[in-house]
Amino acid sequence: MDKQENIQNDTNFNSPLGVGGKLGVGGIDNFGFYGEFGGAYIPEILHGTVERLKEAFYAIKDDASFKSEYYDLLKNYVGRPSPLYFAKRLSAVYGTNIYLKREDLNHTGAHKINNALGQILLARRMGKTRIIAETGAGQHGVATATACALMGLECIVFMGKTDVERQFLNVQKMRMLGATVEPVTCGNMTLKDATNEAIRYWCSNPDSFYIIGSTVGPHPYPDMVGFFQSVISEEIKWQLLEQIGRDYPDYLMACVGGGSNAMGTYYHYINDDRVQIISAEAGGLGIETGETAATISIGTVGIIHGFRTLLMQDEDGQITEPYSISAGLDYPGIGPAHAYFAKVGRTKVHAINDDEALEAAFELTRLEGIIPAIESAHALALLKKEKDTFKTNDIVVLTVSGRGDKDMDTYVKYFTPNP
Ligand SMILES: *Cc1c(COP(=O)(O)O)cnc(C)c1O
Repeated sequence: MDKQENIQNDTNFNSPLGVGGKLGVGGIDNFGFYGEFGGAYIPEILHGTVERLKEAFYAIKDDASFKSEYYDLLKNYVGRPSPLYFAKRLSAVYGTNIYLKREDLNHTGAHKINNALGQILLARRMGKTRIIAETGAGQHGVATATACALMGLECIVFMGKTDVERQFLNVQKMRMLGATVEPVTCGNMTLKDATNEAIRYWCSNPDSFYIIGSTVGPHPYPDMVGFFQSVISEEIKWQLLEQIGRDYPDYLMACVGGGSNAMGTYYHYINDDRVQIISAEAGGLGIETGETAATISIGTVGIIHGFRTLLMQDEDGQITEPYSISAGLDYPGIGPAHAYFAKVGRTKVHAINDDEALEAAFELTRLEGIIPAIESAHALALLKKEKDTFKTNDIVVLTVSGRGDKDMDTYVKYFTPNP
């Protein structure tokens, strides 16, 4: 499975993010590697299934009829384009020009629906009738169950039992949408275990279509999910041109869990070195405390869920349980593209601690009247980290990946509302 030789022999490899030759967007090669990260480490029994998925995806990727079907849904069902909003009062605080990409305004409240719809259209074209998915906090589960209701397809969502109890509202939504929620009782009963169980089920039922919710998993998933989220930067380009007369920002910022909203935000700018890219990962209580999900900061190379990446693991290769205040960011791995971008210096990464994210969430709420998802608040906290580097004429585009309704329990614990 190790295709390292092929990568090293590729003359484009040293132009880190080239799109020429064999390399695709983000520097991915034909085997799904971004440098040393990525690939497809899957059991033999899934080989044919994943091959057919790859063929089907690369066949429809640039197909005009697929694109028109997909874009019609994005427009009329999701409500795209999402606004690119100039945040005037926030900009004044940071002495620069901050534009927010409002993925929080999408149907179902976050960017995840973009990907769920893309994959379900692909599944339908492949003649699949049963969809499976994993979910942690339940956001991807809800997006997938929504897409399945829309298409009239069977939906099974694997979810750790701990998460089923913690995220009961999302469980109720999935059930109302007609999905079967399978509580997973092995391991810590969280996202990692739910993903293992989904893969196990997929091995025994390879006719199912597995909708993965982020830029993780075996090739082609990271590339495919990134592609379905790339509408975010496609819109940023023309929206900037319309609003400021040029189609690129000086800074792009997003939070990274598995990396899908970030990949969508960066996609059309990866090879544009006028654009500095800064990612936020979840520092939890602090990277030195061990209570963290800051994979890029403290991870080491390993294999999880079918791909090679940076992982939080002990010396024996046992995955350590990540911690973050944000359920959407506490994954022990990270999308292979983001591991690669950080390694070659294309992105700068800050670990944002719980308290910094909370502060940023309250700041945005009070300055702009937007309650962000706690995941997105990690991206907002980057503004404070980078404040001294901003110039008054700089253009900063920051993706607000989701809305904060789901996080109100967390937020109210940290403040006393006005009496
Ligand atoms: C799931 C989620 C994330 C993290 O996932 P990525 O794949 O890294 O984008 C971020 N923000 C919100 C609102 C989410 O629901």
